[in-house]
Amino acid sequence: MKFHILTFGCQMNYADSARIKAVLSNCWFFYTENIKDADVVIFDTCSVKQKSEDKITGKLKSIRPDQKVRITWCMIQHNMRSGKLKTWKSAFNVGNFMGTIKTKNPQVIGLTTDEINLMKDADKSSEIIGVNNAFNPVFHSLTQKWKNIELIRRIDDTWFLPLILKKLGYRFSYDRELINEYEKIIPENIETSMNTHKKTVYIPISTWCNQFCAYCIVPYARGLEKHFPVEQIINEAKTHLKNGAKEIVLLGQIVNKHPEFVNILKKILKLKGLKRLRYTSPYPTYYSKELLSLHENEPKLCPHIHIPLQSGSDSILKKMFRGYTVKEAKKFLSHIKKIKRKISITTDIIVGFPDETEDDFQQSLDLIKYGKFDMVYIGIYSPRPGTLGAKNYSDNISSETKRERWDRLNKLLITISRKNNEKEIWTTKEMLINKLNKWIIEGYTENMKQIIIENLKAKKANSKIKVGDFMKVKITKAIPFKMYGEMI
Ligand code: SF4
Repeated sequence: MKFHILTFGCQMNYADSARIKAVLSNCWFFYTENIKDADVVIFDTCSVKQKSEDKITGKLKSIRPDQKVRITWCMIQHNMRSGKLKTWKSAFNVGNFMGTIKTKNPQVIGLTTDEINLMKDADKSSEIIGVNNAFNPVFHSLTQKWKNIELIRRIDDTWFLPLILKKLGYRFSYDRELINEYEKIIPENIETSMNTHKKTVYIPISTWCNQFCAYCIVPYARGLEKHFPVEQIINEAKTHLKNGAKEIVLLGQIVNKHPEFVNILKKILKLKGLKRLRYTSPYPTYYSKELLSLHENEPKLCPHIHIPLQSGSDSILKKMFRGYTVKEAKKFLSHIKKIKRKISITTDIIVGFPDETEDDFQQSLDLIKYGKFDMVYIGIYSPRPGTLGAKNYSDNISSETKRERWDRLNKLLITISRKNNEKEIWTTKEMLINKLNKWIIEGYTENMKQIIIENLKAKKANSKIKVGDFMKVKITKAIPFKMYGEMI
């Protein structure tokens, strides 16, 4: 039985996909890169953005009727907790559910508490939380339309997959111990990556979030924060490096809130085979002097900090429940700029948050000028059902104003990005190659800038180099968001 995984969303989803793959491979399912060869297609997606939800429904159209479909996404918890499920309590009483399954008819085939407790090492003392998706309207409409959907479940129940699949009628022997917590599944291969080159691995060091920013669905979708044990993180890093990974990205919703964060970085930096270490996303208030000093002194810790600031206005930050002021954000940026090694800084900004005045927006522009960010991921505010923002604030900025603010901020960003990149001309960079054909070589630097080589030299080089190699490049030309160079 062959399976293929379609991953949508952020790096965390790719880390999740690697875990699904690990469990299924141990159940004698075989991964295929080619979706057409797959008997089962797994959709691993998120609910953070409406776009991801739209993508999945679009993609379902291309799945053949004889291919089975399984879906896992955070929307499951999200709909459940946002109160869309009116009948969940009565459904829950049907059995002591852990994990959730919805098949045709609809048929509910979840696991009972007894079955769960039979599993080795199951924590019998903890309360088992059940979520029953069979009555979720989104799932109901999906399964009415696509009859080949055989399973919809929570990502956190990945460790139950062997039991769930047996209930679905699959016969196989599972040659590993069932791991009794999702976060303890350690993937053994590095094929599930956002990049073409497969040299990057994503290692979650914590999951979910307690911050409850007013616009964000994450705490509702995926639950409250958990920090993973250091030993497990290091073991996962060692496994991936042994299997050929070169770039490690540590993941967490507030990654630097892990109480052992600096210790984890130091331990990974010592591991053999590592070329680049990154992390995302940090939070300004959890930066320590020691962490900044690591950026200064450890060449393998990439000189790039993505720090989501969201707004340059104190009143908007307060409404967002971000927990810091603009003055504090600027002070933090000035600490980064004092580091002797040049650090590339990127951020996220939301435009059109409820009650954002022209003055508030001007202050966001000022913050971007102050930070001289290499990239700003600009989000246009839209209320996500279930969030504090959706419940408490009126979405009172018109779409024209939101779009117009997006344009102005983007224009400023283009100017700053061009200036920043022009300063890199005639410097030497090392890029990790992500794309290669007879016309161009494309890759990205340790400070996350895209480089393109597009001349005769690139053509000659194609025979010798391959995707996933590191290459020294002299920068010869710069435009916003991109630099061009020559091989050295
Ligand atoms: S810190 Fe805020 S924006 Fe980030 S995941 Fe947590 S709630 Fe969402």
